[in-house]
Amino acid sequence: MAPMDATAGQPLDLYDLSRAQLAERLAGWGYADYYAGLVWSGFYRDLATAPEGIAGLRPALAERLAAERIGVLPVRATIDSADGHTRKFLLGLGDGAAIETVLMYFRGRATVCVSTQVGCAMGCVFCATGQMGFRRHLSPGEIVAQVVHAERELRRRGETLRNVVLMGMGEPLHNYEATMAALDTVMDHRGLAIGPRFITLSTVGVVPGIRRLTAERRPVRLAVSLHGATDEERARLVPPARRWPLGELMAACRDYTTTLGRRIFFEWTLIDGQNDGPAQAHALGRLLAGMDAHVNLIPLNPTLGYDGRPTAGAAARAFQAVLAEYGLPSTVRQRRGIDVAAGCGQLAVAR
Ligand code: SAH
Ligand code: SF4
Repeated sequence: MAPMDATAGQPLDLYDLSRAQLAERLAGWGYADYYAGLVWSGFYRDLATAPEGIAGLRPALAERLAAERIGVLPVRATIDSADGHTRKFLLGLGDGAAIETVLMYFRGRATVCVSTQVGCAMGCVFCATGQMGFRRHLSPGEIVAQVVHAERELRRRGETLRNVVLMGMGEPLHNYEATMAALDTVMDHRGLAIGPRFITLSTVGVVPGIRRLTAERRPVRLAVSLHGATDEERARLVPPARRWPLGELMAACRDYTTTLGRRIFFEWTLIDGQNDGPAQAHALGRLLAGMDAHVNLIPLNPTLGYDGRPTAGAAARAFQAVLAEYGLPSTVRQRRGIDVAAGCGQLAVAR
């Protein structure tokens, strides 16, 4: 997606630009790379919200930049969990749509969960975002802006962001280009400088996307949402399982771990009586045995559009014990801030 030019009538979202694209723009206006460096660190180190806030800029350049847009997203609503560990933001977009960004304050490892689309086309039955349907892709700048927002919030508390997880609204590999462009900005060491091993991209299993990120050797960590270990069981929860069957998906996952020499993460939403019994745990164990894999078990966060209950703690531990028999490490992920409906898409849907 080519960023639009102010000269063509539409202001440019400066957050959409890579460091190289910014330098190119500024060169076109007659400024050396040094100024691109000032602007970049102004945006992504000092978190400036306007060109006037950037030290050392020539007034003419500040004025030129002011004709463009810095895509800061206004906060439409904020909800804190009762335990104070999670703050959920509903951020407004230019076209009136809204997305969710969730900030989790784990001391020293603050984590932001960002969205990549408004809604989602994949239609997983238990997911509030899936229940919304697909509205549109986010631009790179709209993804970057969520991370900048989180960093700004944390700085007010004297903290800094450590982890970025692409587990908010939307399917990142359905919006591949914008997601990767945003991650390049987020990782840039002259700016936000989030290390790639602190970034996790979660996908429902878009096989061409997994193949592409493997071929491009994208440095981020990969998590694949399984929820079922046979095509039939999986397709009941995750409709894209019909398009990308487990045979193809697991081949792409194996290729990812062997080509890149990296561990892969799998996510499994535990739904009482649906996919949490010993038979399913054994099927998952057989599917993943021998892989350098880690399983994240997420007790279902109930949503309005799906009549299911989360698996209880004892059953979740029994599931883990079966996986351990196959040599598979697993974690039962705490549903932080469940009281603020921190499950993906739930705040946007409630409004
Ligand atoms: N589209 C991507 C990333 C966003 S969803 C994906 O599906 O992986 C992030 C994770 O939250 C996925 O594993 C998804 O299955 C899970 N999830 C969605 N809704 C949930 C709910 N109501 N309860 C528990 N987990 C949920
Ligand atoms: Fe989309 Fe992920 Fe929700 Fe499935 S779980 S509908 S892929 S956001």
